[in-house]
Amino acid sequence: MEKVDFATFHSRLRITGRLQLDTPLHIGAGGAPDVTEVVQSVVKDWARRPYIPGSSFKGALRAHLEAILRALDYELACVSIAKPETPGAVKGCLTLGDVDALKKELRDQSPAALSAALISKSCQMCRVFGSPWLASKVLFKDMPVAAETWFDRYQERSGVGIDRDTETAGDKLLYETEAVPAGTEFDFEMVVDNADEIEQGLILLGIAEVERGQMALGGARSRGLGWVKLRVDWTNVDKTYRVERASLRSYLASGKGESLADLDRRKELVGKFLAHSGGNHA
Ligand SMILES: [Zn+2]
Repeated sequence: MEKVDFATFHSRLRITGRLQLDTPLHIGAGGAPDVTEVVQSVVKDWARRPYIPGSSFKGALRAHLEAILRALDYELACVSIAKPETPGAVKGCLTLGDVDALKKELRDQSPAALSAALISKSCQMCRVFGSPWLASKVLFKDMPVAAETWFDRYQERSGVGIDRDTETAGDKLLYETEAVPAGTEFDFEMVVDNADEIEQGLILLGIAEVERGQMALGGARSRGLGWVKLRVDWTNVDKTYRVERASLRSYLASGKGESLADLDRRKELVGKFLAHSGGNHA
């Protein structure tokens, strides 16, 4: 049972499920590239089992949603994160220069005034997923492998490395890419705190895309690796509100928030986001 702090609590949406690999997955263990290293290994836990870092999933989901928003309306996409130094990088979001200017302008005011200004001038994507100057409203937990789908067997796939400096295939960069086999499953859990219904609609749009198998994770995606599909048990997903008293009353009475088991209700929230974001005119 998760603790709810009613002094600061506004809303919470918690989604759990199973993420299945449709194709093998390679999320690199990182570290400096080494010419003597012939196998590029994947991230593992202490018992050498694979896991999916929550940050990898979050990055992929954000990139996927930004691509969708660009397709709907270019101005909705945030490029400030990729190139924060670009002046006026995108309408509706802050650049590093804007943030410096705001800090100067509001230096005599409270930190709360600065954060309110940062929030109001940031794009929707940054408000939900965070930015160098805004906390994220979504938390993706690291996903452990589902024991019954893991047989202690990694795959190795041959490949030609791309030299990171020249972006060309170097002759000494032949290597094996370690990958987690297709069919392996991971336990998925995310928590969205204090997002309004429009922002929850954005999240549900992203989750629906992963349910449809439209998103890939990790490295070597151009070679077909990393396609995943999410199964959510929607009867176990609810959202709880303090700002909406009716739903708080029902939460206090039953210990459960508003159910999201009804697909139409989820579609309604996604619709709220699309209508708000001007992407509804197609
Ligand atoms: Zn932004």
